[in-house]
Amino acid sequence: MKPFRELVVISGKGGTGKTTLTASFSYLVGRSVQCDADVDAPDLWILLQPKIEAEGSFSGGKVARISPEKCIGCGLCYQHCRYEAIGPANSTTRMAGLTSDFSYYWVADRQLEGHRQPQEGRFLSNTNPETNPKTPLPPEILPTLQEPASSQEQAGQASLPPDQGRIFRIDPNSCEGCGVCQIVCPVAAVQLEERYSGQWFSGETAYGPMVYARLAPGQENSGKLVTLVRQKAQILARNHQIPLIIIDGPPGTGCPVISALTGVDLALVVTEPTLSGKHDLERVAALAEHLRVPLAIVVNKYDLNPEITSELESWAAAHSYPVLGRIPFSPAVTQSLLAKDIAVRQENPASSAIREIWSRVRGTLHLGEGGK
Ligand code: SF4
Ligand code: SF4
Repeated sequence: MKPFRELVVISGKGGTGKTTLTASFSYLVGRSVQCDADVDAPDLWILLQPKIEAEGSFSGGKVARISPEKCIGCGLCYQHCRYEAIGPANSTTRMAGLTSDFSYYWVADRQLEGHRQPQEGRFLSNTNPETNPKTPLPPEILPTLQEPASSQEQAGQASLPPDQGRIFRIDPNSCEGCGVCQIVCPVAAVQLEERYSGQWFSGETAYGPMVYARLAPGQENSGKLVTLVRQKAQILARNHQIPLIIIDGPPGTGCPVISALTGVDLALVVTEPTLSGKHDLERVAALAEHLRVPLAIVVNKYDLNPEITSELESWAAAHSYPVLGRIPFSPAVTQSLLAKDIAVRQENPASSAIREIWSRVRGTLHLGEGGK
């Protein structure tokens, strides 16, 4: 049995007060491990202000790279890439002797290096279009590839820039890391490397250690990064003998939410009294049910629509989900956020409600007394 409890605060969508509640709980419990699992848009650190002590990069997959010094420009990788991630390197590269089925070729830029002979007549068995049909190079590329070297180049006086002058290159933004180009390359010119997908951070806050991460723009695999920050939070809890991890969950119901929910002791869903809020609650509750995670509900800004609040509570009762409290709308909460302060530090009706909710969460998780 794990020596700590894990509480995740989630919502069907962003902007429902999830981070406000998480930071308030961190303040009220006094000392816990804080884990921001909203890796697409982490913001808990703004309120908790950790002093960063460690950080590292995260790789969510592979990306292929062609070694220009090895590439002989056969075009096989180009033909086999299903993601259109490979293209001619630039217009200064020339492939002479290119045939329609890629069976025979020699590469003109080898001549430019001055110490190699053209590889005229080199044969690649797996380029036979009858046994291995592939997309031919588009006609607009062929004239460039077949353009003869200039007289200056033929005289060996020109050298191609180190990052140019090769036939093919890979666009890392389009590459899916499938590895096919590495398999088909006849001269082992393709390497699969770790793709930089984000950064994780850990440090100490006034309320205990914290870990969070930021996914790099355009990167995927946020579920994997959520798993990584949760693992780091668990290590911190074990090393510091802290009995509670509070997770600020990602919005939605996708892969990162599944990673944030799996195996926790309680999922607290923050919802708002709107039709879309009700819909989001139903979806996230179905997910928690599927993952067999105990679920409780908090209605934020309940007084903005008491009618839908009643509907939410009736729905929760019908499904045996406990409603641990209602939080009234309070401009003071927004002002606290703008001041980068924790809402529950101020005295107002919303912070009183949050304190009551925390006391019920504590009871649900069977945590001992302590904190504020
Ligand atoms: S790894 Fe796959 S997607 Fe990436 S360039 Fe190679 S074949 Fe294309
Ligand atoms: S990387 Fe390999 S498969 Fe692609 S063009 Fe160069 S030699 Fe051919």
